[in-house]
Amino acid sequence: MLRFTAFLSTVVLCASTNVYADAQPAKTTAFVHVNVVPMDRERVLRDQTVLVQGDRIVAIGPNVEVPAAAQRIDGHGTAWLSPGLADMHTHSQTKNDLAVYLANGVTTVLNMGDSRAGFVDKVVPAVNRGEVPGPHVYTSFLVDGNTEYNGFVLRTPDDARAFVRLAKTNGYDFIKVYVGLTPEVYSTLAQEGPRAGLPLIGHGVYAVRLDSQIAQGQALIAHAEEFFYSFFTPPGVEESDTPPDVKRIADAVALAKRPGATVTADLVTYAAIAHQIGHPEVVAGFLARPESYFMSPNDRLQWQTSGYVNKTARLEAKLEFLRCMVKAMADAGVELVAGTDAPAVPGTLPGFSLHDDLAELEASGLSRYQVLTTATRAPGAFIERTKHNDRFGLVATGYRADLVLSSANPLDSLATLRKPLGVMAAGQWRDAAALDALKDHVRASYRQASVGY
Ligand SMILES: [Zn+2]
Repeated sequence: MLRFTAFLSTVVLCASTNVYADAQPAKTTAFVHVNVVPMDRERVLRDQTVLVQGDRIVAIGPNVEVPAAAQRIDGHGTAWLSPGLADMHTHSQTKNDLAVYLANGVTTVLNMGDSRAGFVDKVVPAVNRGEVPGPHVYTSFLVDGNTEYNGFVLRTPDDARAFVRLAKTNGYDFIKVYVGLTPEVYSTLAQEGPRAGLPLIGHGVYAVRLDSQIAQGQALIAHAEEFFYSFFTPPGVEESDTPPDVKRIADAVALAKRPGATVTADLVTYAAIAHQIGHPEVVAGFLARPESYFMSPNDRLQWQTSGYVNKTARLEAKLEFLRCMVKAMADAGVELVAGTDAPAVPGTLPGFSLHDDLAELEASGLSRYQVLTTATRAPGAFIERTKHNDRFGLVATGYRADLVLSSANPLDSLATLRKPLGVMAAGQWRDAAALDALKDHVRASYRQASVGY
């Protein structure tokens, strides 16, 4: 068992009264006698000291000197320190969701749309400065070519140029493309977006298609399932429930392996959709999960009224195909990242479902090291390549101090990350009690809202 200093116990007591003040201001923290899973390659460093100053990891080793004033967190040789996790496909835009993410060991999220102005210009900067508890947030602005879905509509190249300037002015990190953009508008975004520091990420665009999107520099394909709609199925041909021939997986792997391309697996999302079509009892089961009560009543209502259960498709065979494709991509060295779509798709919970996604990846045959890579090193490499402004995703000097302390080696059991002993986000440490206090605060706020579950 871990024993924390008396100083840390005081922190926990404070946490029960004011969760926004529970973390210590950034200073020096030393994790001592911890086993480190650095994730630069498949290895473990036993009985290490990891020194954190401010929001950075500054030293790792067996004999690192610990300043007398440092906050000490003693792992007694039985605790494991691995990088904080990343969910690279979220639709959360509330402080409450971000707190629940953090309580689950998620220290980075990429918002893939719905990141409206009040969130991007107020909540995100406060969270990223460490003033509000949550993961580091990267944001994207979703655009489409028609109003069929929910996008902000761009119809002409002039629209696209004006939009890029506005997105830049308003502080977004990425442009998320949706399915209905015209080739002319897409090409304008592909030229002007990266020039303004806003790389393109998102869906397959029907009139452009994934191979052309990757050739034009799109940095991220939002879900593995996009390969069905904009790669395997020829243009104009109706999508069917029959998966492509598995021999075609090699073509998808070759495309995804092109330099600069990243794929969000999002397997938990496709599995949730496949399981609920025609089965309202499956959605009822999602809503009965105890973890779902940390989600807002509005989102619970949205799950209850979502239209997936009324569809008639049978997606199990395609889900199996995607599992094989993702496994082949991992084995070929494609940069795969984990993502959940939470809470937009019924069954995908902020924070908790990132662990479900990791379990899906493991069930698809990826090694636990490959799985953990999708939520640590690969998201870090993706952001470093596309935004050039930060380093995270490894336990390594110079990297953002985003860390999860667990009671077992995650490379032996990924489930240990569901119940962290503590989480550090950008140098701010919260032990398990403080993380529970964050979740309790969220749940209590929904009870006080007197909105029925
Ligand atoms: Zn999404």
